[in-house]
Amino acid sequence: MSERICPKCGTSVKEILETGFVGCEKCYDLPEIKAAVDKMFGGKRHPKTEK
Ligand SMILES: [Zn+2]
Repeated sequence: MSERICPKCGTSVKEILETGFVGCEKCYDLPEIKAAVDKMFGGKRHPKTEK
């Protein structure tokens, strides 16, 4: 099982989730990071303004 890393900065998903810091904006494209960000900010979204 290989660990997913950001193709741009090379930071691993595990590292990002452990530290809470992303290496670059591309890190947000990783599915695991997207899911984590959704969890963190999901409650603040306004369903009415979403397309
Ligand atoms: Zn990155």
